[in-house]
Amino acid sequence: MEENTAATLLSALKKQRYHMVGSHSAVKRCKWLHESIVNGRSCYKQKFYGVKSHRCIQMTPSLYYCTQQCLFCWRAQTGDLQVTWDEMKIPKVDSPEAIVEGCLKAQERILTGYKGNPQTNWRKFQEALAPKQVAISLTGEPTLYEPLGELIRTFRQKGLTTFLVSNGTLPAELSKLSQEPTQLYISLCAPNEQMYKGVCRPEFPGAWWKLQETLNLLQGFRCPTVVRTTLVKDLNMTCVEEYAKLIEKANPTYIEAKAYMHIGFSNLRLGFERMPMHTEVKEFSRQLAEKTGYTIIDEAPESRVVLLSRLKKPIQVGLE
Ligand code: SF4
Ligand code: SF4
Repeated sequence: MEENTAATLLSALKKQRYHMVGSHSAVKRCKWLHESIVNGRSCYKQKFYGVKSHRCIQMTPSLYYCTQQCLFCWRAQTGDLQVTWDEMKIPKVDSPEAIVEGCLKAQERILTGYKGNPQTNWRKFQEALAPKQVAISLTGEPTLYEPLGELIRTFRQKGLTTFLVSNGTLPAELSKLSQEPTQLYISLCAPNEQMYKGVCRPEFPGAWWKLQETLNLLQGFRCPTVVRTTLVKDLNMTCVEEYAKLIEKANPTYIEAKAYMHIGFSNLRLGFERMPMHTEVKEFSRQLAEKTGYTIIDEAPESRVVLLSRLKKPIQVGLE
């Protein structure tokens, strides 16, 4: 990446309060960590799976890099800021140990701000100083970081559970992970190839078929798996039957249907009105339940997300 491109990106991301870790990773305070420490509210993943929002690190090992350019993505994509770069390759690979240490330090820096906040819940603040969960999901495609399995293992050795979110376009990387995450998310944001090309804008030919390979692989994972659909109004909330067929093939533990949020750099590509209401997400989920045989088992209206599963209750997450 050219120096002036890196400088432009860095300054834009710092304004959005990204904490850089090494050359291609970052941590960002999740809104729900703040809400948990200050207002006693937690994220839907705490509600569904029991991971504690105030003890969660939101990070990425592939800050500027992805195989897709989804319209709804909050990440800075090549072209967004009048600078361009090769998004498909992480040029210099930092070690998993350096990334984990850097993330823990960044989280500590983030938490320092709460010492002077009169609204801080002190018990939660103390607990937060020892994080227990990592969301490897902030931006970018994590499977572009080759030692991803080692990264997951290093977090695990430090006592942290990991939720890994992938767009599924690199099945070979997913299938050779040396350590599975605690829970694996695959994004499925289009019901067919034509819509996929328009919504997810893959950066290489045949990406749709790679995603299909990943869906086929999903049943081979021992960890709970999630097919996650980000729903954008008047864009990808149709063809429920086609979604259902793809999801049946993957047979995930859960389906999460979630509304697009008008935040970050997605504001440059989509209008505010593209966020569906929770009632619309629920109606889409109801139709999906009907077609797949999954049941709606929980929901979080404040995040406009609905959880479907064949289980009666979601599995509560922790390290054995
Ligand atoms: S699990 Fe996700 S939403 Fe919940 S606190 Fe962590 S990063 Fe935020
Ligand atoms: S796959 Fe994820 S990180 Fe990549 S462009 Fe889409 S939403 Fe953004």
